[in-house]
Amino acid sequence: MIPLAVPNLNGNEADYLQECITSTFVSTVGPFVGKFEDAIAALSGTQTAAVLCSGTTAIHLALEGLGIGEGDLVMVPALTFIASANAIRHARADVWLVDVSRDDWIFDAAAARAAIEAQTDPHPEGRLHRESGKILRALMPVMIMGAVPDFPELVALARDFNLKIVVDAAAAIGTMAGTDTPLGQTGVDAVCYSFNGNKTITSGGGGAVAAADNALIARIKHLSSTGRVGPNYDHDVVAYNFRMTNIQAAVGFAQLERLDSFLQSKQRIRDAYAALADGYDVLSPFPEPQNGRNGHWFSGFWYTGTADGIEIAFQNHMKEAGVDLRPFWKPLHLQKPYADALCEPMPVTDDVWRRVFPLPCSTHLTEAELETVKTAAQAFWNRHKEAS
Ligand SMILES: *Cc1c(COP(=O)(O)O)cnc(C)c1O
Repeated sequence: MIPLAVPNLNGNEADYLQECITSTFVSTVGPFVGKFEDAIAALSGTQTAAVLCSGTTAIHLALEGLGIGEGDLVMVPALTFIASANAIRHARADVWLVDVSRDDWIFDAAAARAAIEAQTDPHPEGRLHRESGKILRALMPVMIMGAVPDFPELVALARDFNLKIVVDAAAAIGTMAGTDTPLGQTGVDAVCYSFNGNKTITSGGGGAVAAADNALIARIKHLSSTGRVGPNYDHDVVAYNFRMTNIQAAVGFAQLERLDSFLQSKQRIRDAYAALADGYDVLSPFPEPQNGRNGHWFSGFWYTGTADGIEIAFQNHMKEAGVDLRPFWKPLHLQKPYADALCEPMPVTDDVWRRVFPLPCSTHLTEAELETVKTAAQAFWNRHKEAS
């Protein structure tokens, strides 16, 4: 079976891991933690970054570090992986679900603006949501598939309503805004990455926050390491053990050395699937918003036709051809934990999510494997074309 996305570990990963073992620095202290942190900051255009044990904890601590918590709301698109919302709840805030726009699948800023205007009043810390009595504090755009949002539009929206922006860039390492502006210099408050095994670069598991505000990064580090003050067992806040280990950082650092070649592979795969989709009226590549350089974490196509049940038929066909194909993320408003969340109308999310087909996109996917995927997909869609 050709997998969807598996790690490419053929660089210095094994050597750096051996260094961890030989030096005995296997835990949260060790040279790779600082090196990885510095590299993430440099890539993000910030002075500092905090590396953590997952992308989920990165989002959680970015929110908590900004003082967002109990009684607060964070606006997040429904078309995302459930971890975006879980992190908001872990910070003890609540989610306010909004749709994505059709041309970027990231965040419908116009719908968000209309909802905020209609349902909230000014408040010193953000916007008071009249019906729930909660305070909207932040927007959380999700850089789905590694795509770039319209940052100037989001920053203007946040400024108009006195809100923070915490970016779920879990899948967007290497993505650049505008003409090569690093994500940390886009005017947002925090950029959160994941280094889970299926992401463009992995540290086995892990995450990071980059921010222009060094004091925010310092607070996040404090929260991630039990809130300890001084060399003894003195702690000033109920905090967490969310640090990254030297072992994870060693893998992540080795991966980051090859980021450019990984991004080239992702682009090659994107181009191949876009060319494939071009051959069929009913298929479109994933949106490629022209707001910068998209990282193309995942590529594939989506079905724009009207036939019922075709998703399942295509999934089964690809599995039989030896290609891993799974349904895309089920949106948050359809998930049990968020069924009762504050929720705006979802015309785009509801229309799109079942029709999205992410295809195999590991950075070391071979030309032969790519050919297998293309041939199998073409066999299905040619048959569909003839039948209709
Ligand atoms: C992977 C991912 C996360 C969560 O990251 P973990 O490291 O798995 O905790 C959050 N949001 C999005 C959009 C993701 O793709």
